[in-house]
Amino acid sequence: MNLNEKMMGTKCLWGGEEASLLQGATQVPVVHSVGFGYKDVDEWLQVALGEKPGHIYGRNTNPTVDAFEEKVRLLEGGEAATSASTGMGIISSTLFGLLRPGQRVVSIKDTYGGTSLLFTEFLDRFNVNVTLCDTADHDQIEAEIAKGCDLVYLESPTNPTTKILDIARLAKAGHQVGAIVVVDNTFATPINQNPLSLGADLVLHSATKFLGGHADALGGVICGRKDLIEQIYHFREINGATLHPMAAYFLLRGMKTLQLRIRQQNASALQVATFLENHPAIEGVFYPGLASHAGHQIASQQMRGYGGMLSFTLKENSFDAIRRFVPRLQIAHAAANLGAVETTIGPPATTSHVECTPEQRAAFGIPEGLIRYSTGIEDIEDLLVDLKQALAIF
Ligand SMILES: *Cc1c(COP(=O)(O)O)cnc(C)c1O
Repeated sequence: MNLNEKMMGTKCLWGGEEASLLQGATQVPVVHSVGFGYKDVDEWLQVALGEKPGHIYGRNTNPTVDAFEEKVRLLEGGEAATSASTGMGIISSTLFGLLRPGQRVVSIKDTYGGTSLLFTEFLDRFNVNVTLCDTADHDQIEAEIAKGCDLVYLESPTNPTTKILDIARLAKAGHQVGAIVVVDNTFATPINQNPLSLGADLVLHSATKFLGGHADALGGVICGRKDLIEQIYHFREINGATLHPMAAYFLLRGMKTLQLRIRQQNASALQVATFLENHPAIEGVFYPGLASHAGHQIASQQMRGYGGMLSFTLKENSFDAIRRFVPRLQIAHAAANLGAVETTIGPPATTSHVECTPEQRAAFGIPEGLIRYSTGIEDIEDLLVDLKQALAIF
């Protein structure tokens, strides 16, 4: 058995907390203090120089935030971890912290919308060249990597089309040209997939989603090679996108039940996807757990579960159909979030790709008629009855 697979549930509960516990407390405290005091100036200097563990200032590090980073690090099996105030905070810190003008990135067209905009709108300004490949075409991605690049940026499953990339294959291709390989693991979570064990150098999460799981805290986190994490941390401590200790606490508490939630969401999403696939009003269902999914084979090799996220299109493939269908659901928030204990639903135009224009969505290969469904932990019978009644108008 892969070491990372061992004791995942126990790590969710106990992992990373010990160093931050206080006076016998069984839970990590929320340390609101911005400054950390030292009577001994020499010791203070040692901490400032990183020669001794400790904290100096809240923008840099904090004990509550430390515990959160350490818990994720243990679950992903990385050497080191650092965090940011949001998923985009950690993604932009990673790209701007690691890349230099004149370097080249190879990625895919349908990464998370915010990430796509970093690639197409912002990196360009700093003379970083980005090539976005067709997500379904491994040969093209491999060929682009082989031309030479400095960073390979992957996401699997993708948001919102749940496409699957062969992480081991593309990590190998990246390493052959000396590139750093980064994977956004938000949709899978460390319970279902550990990209580092598949060869990636860095794995990141929007902790806002499944890690926190309760739609009440924003956060981002990245784990992997220590030398790279140090560079990302250094940029993040300067750009100031620091994770708030209160948010870190919510995320830590949410993560206690990560394995339980993901097990339920894996099971329920498969049932929802199967139900939809057999429903006459549905055109197509995208869920890696379905045998009909183009990435099912690869997903079965690299994932331990297929996750809670799926998307689908109605036979009546129009935005107007979505407008009529979505509000009919009683047990699904129509909201721009995912990975929470409650089911959420929405089209890319108001969720994953809200910052993009319709033209940009088309260029990234995101269908306007798509509906994204984030399966919660409600009783599965209730979810199915609800979908059935909502679809009855078609
Ligand atoms: C939401 C999301 C992000 C961005 O995270 P925020 O916390 O919203 O900044 C990045 N990647 C994926 C796959 C996401 O779903």
